[in-house]
Amino acid sequence: MEQVDTVVVGAGVVGLAVARALALAGLEVLVLEATDAIGTQTSARNSEVIHAGIYYPPGSLKAQLCVRGKALLYAYCAERGIGHRRCGKLIVASSQEQVAQLQGLIAKAAANGVDDLVLLTREQARALEPALECVAAVHSPSTGIVDSHGLMLALQGDLEHAGGMVAFNSPLASASMTAQGIELHARDGTQLRARTVVNAAGVHAPTLARRFEGLDPAHIPGEYYAKGNYFTLACRSPFTRLIYPVPEAAGLGVHLTIDLGGQAKFGPDVQWVETPDDLVVDPARGLAFYAEVRKYWPALPEGALQPGYAGIRPKISGPGETARDFLIQGPAEHGVPGLVNLFGIESPGLTSSLAIAEHVVQMLSNQ
Ligand SMILES: Cc1cc2nc3c(=O)[nH]c(=O)nc-3n(C[C@H](O)[C@H](O)[C@H](O)COP(=O)(O)OP(=O)(O)OC[C@H]3O[C@@H](n4cnc5c(N)ncnc54)[C@H](O)[C@@H]3O)c2cc1C
Repeated sequence: MEQVDTVVVGAGVVGLAVARALALAGLEVLVLEATDAIGTQTSARNSEVIHAGIYYPPGSLKAQLCVRGKALLYAYCAERGIGHRRCGKLIVASSQEQVAQLQGLIAKAAANGVDDLVLLTREQARALEPALECVAAVHSPSTGIVDSHGLMLALQGDLEHAGGMVAFNSPLASASMTAQGIELHARDGTQLRARTVVNAAGVHAPTLARRFEGLDPAHIPGEYYAKGNYFTLACRSPFTRLIYPVPEAAGLGVHLTIDLGGQAKFGPDVQWVETPDDLVVDPARGLAFYAEVRKYWPALPEGALQPGYAGIRPKISGPGETARDFLIQGPAEHGVPGLVNLFGIESPGLTSSLAIAEHVVQMLSNQ
């Protein structure tokens, strides 16, 4: 059986960041990717926002890795010439009751080490964005946008430069934990033995982990799929910053983001679905988008929203449950030497990718 030092399953932004970090640490790294390209799944179906670290419970992995990941990501983008813009964002209150929520967000952000938020009056917010309607707003200057594909190409380049490689069309079917290492069984019948395996299979990570013989299933969370639909704006956006409503239970609310090419889009909404393959945007959902967006942009022209794309949040808590933190389990948590499972890497996973990679390297060097 062929022997590899380290295998990372999944070539999304997180798998690539982890693989790069392990290769830079001197390990022999092979990435197994089910499809024929990098970053075709959730990493290609998100808002491409560099989050500041505002929303997450203080002390949580989401809070720590987002704030650290943001700093690492801005530095990496600058160093490698990856497209990005620190454009800032406004979180808007559309009623007096929501102003208290804005104050709560400022306090939570400060507890997370994000101390640059400013509460703006309606007039101050409209001085920045004249088309905006609100009662008050919070300005987050460190929020930005990134070219996620440029980022993933740079990560892949670093990985390969350090001697690692990505094997495409190589879906992992199952694995068994043995005294000699972790035996991996690819769907085409290929067998490999690795000392270290990182399961970065995104939305499929829990299902895959259930096929790891020797891993106690009690450690594997349930999986739930919260689809986020986007509608693109057919006309020019009057906004230069990202505009967010106050957050809702399972997502951040239907917000406006702009990509580096200037294309504005609204979303994602929250639609719980049964399978991770349900990626078609139902045009009928556009009606609710008009209502949500007009709370902060009353002049949104009729007919301006076109069905865009959808992404699936890899949730590990179900509808109505409190959102769970990233669940990053290493040998200390599940008792299997050399295995790391990355579960529930939803937003802010893109922002956090480089910090998740650091965290995984640390976990494995501590084992
Ligand atoms: C709607 C939406 C909006 C978001 N917006 C933002 C945002 O603005 N900012 C932010 O920071 N984060 C955002 N996120 C979160 C971010 O997109 C994810 O956290 C991140 O892309 C996850 O990357 P990943 O590598 O873990 O997963 P993926 O990108 O899904 O990659 C997993 C890879 O594993 C492969 N794979 C699966 N099973 C196997 C197998 N058995 N064998 C081999 N390969 C396998 C898949 O083909 C895939 O390539 C958003 C997420 C969603 C859904």
